[in-house]
Amino acid sequence: MTDCSSTGPPNSGASSAEDSLAWFSHMIGNCLEYATAAKSGGRPVVGIMCEYCPRELIFAAGAVPVCLCGGHASTIPAAERDLPSNLCPLIKSTYGFHVQRSNPFLEMADLIVAETTCDGKKKMFELLAESRPTYLMELPQRANDAHGRRHWLREVHRFRDFLQSHLRMEITDAGLRRAIAAMNQERRLRRGLAALMQSDAPPLTGLELLSLKSSISCLPDDLAHYERLIATLPERTGKPDASSRARVLLTGVPVVHGAERVMQIIEDSGGLIVCQENCTGLKPLLDDVDEMAPDPLLAIADRYYALHCSVMTPNTRRLDVLRELAADYRPDCVIELIWQSCLTYDVESFFVRRLVEEELGLPYLRIETDYSPSDSERIAVRVQALYETARARSVG
Ligand code: SF4
Ligand code: SF4
Repeated sequence: MTDCSSTGPPNSGASSAEDSLAWFSHMIGNCLEYATAAKSGGRPVVGIMCEYCPRELIFAAGAVPVCLCGGHASTIPAAERDLPSNLCPLIKSTYGFHVQRSNPFLEMADLIVAETTCDGKKKMFELLAESRPTYLMELPQRANDAHGRRHWLREVHRFRDFLQSHLRMEITDAGLRRAIAAMNQERRLRRGLAALMQSDAPPLTGLELLSLKSSISCLPDDLAHYERLIATLPERTGKPDASSRARVLLTGVPVVHGAERVMQIIEDSGGLIVCQENCTGLKPLLDDVDEMAPDPLLAIADRYYALHCSVMTPNTRRLDVLRELAADYRPDCVIELIWQSCLTYDVESFFVRRLVEEELGLPYLRIETDYSPSDSERIAVRVQALYETARARSVG
């Protein structure tokens, strides 16, 4: 198995948008079934924790990349035995699953891929590496920089060499090209789904759109359901009532599976999240890898290096992307979510607020929180006040 598009028959049973949405309500179970079958069939499982990890190389090595990011408060106490409590909940939850040995994907992983992104994650990986096979990619953090680009390309080459020797699989250019095509297909389909939210009457809530994201990319059944959803959602009956809701652009940290509480509050309080700019939304979907490039590894390296995460400096591309998304999705307001102790997104919120308030002329709200529900009521009050401001501006 050398690519991600040739496993498993597409599910032909689903015929309506509701059937396809129901399929994704079992996302973890679907992924577990797939990964278990792949593993018993001899395919390695590789755990990943960041959108900088080039999945194409893992697929081209015949392995299955699985996202291991933790979104559950329940695993945090176990993590705090080793990690400081004032650390990002995403890092703590992920590590807590490791301590408890309670994430089946982590338990079946033959390898974990780490990157030098934020300090907390980088140091947590050192603890993980004490007992689990871990490979570190060194991500340069100067954006759009010729030296950085060269260094990252070397890192991508080293990663390919490591995968070949560790997994004892050959990575060929042909395999890379198949993986690039499959990942691009998934990106195109997910961009198509996100674009449906540009409508005046979006067919999904933001939470429903998020639920379509899978922990394993390119599952054939998922791709088939994406195609069906794009065809059927515009005619969906029972769309969310957009007329009375504030259109929200959500930016900031990723909202990983299990950590949807703030999005729930935003939508339960009268908002409709029409655009998610973060890593669990559009950020990793905006650029494809050039399928026609003569050197597929260089094309992969360039595409990943361009990702506009706050660990990059300066990260002006994020502001450019926000300008474009605001024009396309026409939000009434912008909400920035920051996981507690996430310094890079927290500091960068200065630029985002300035852009939103002074240039886009929209109300902005920064929510800093963790996975505990203790501040839910306070967040709801602040979100409702934001919608009041947005409404007052629209009639003013
Ligand atoms: S926000 Fe940055 S560090 Fe986190 S997953 Fe995305 S790219 Fe990686
Ligand atoms: S949310 Fe921030 S602190 Fe947490 S893992 Fe991502 S970049 Fe690091």
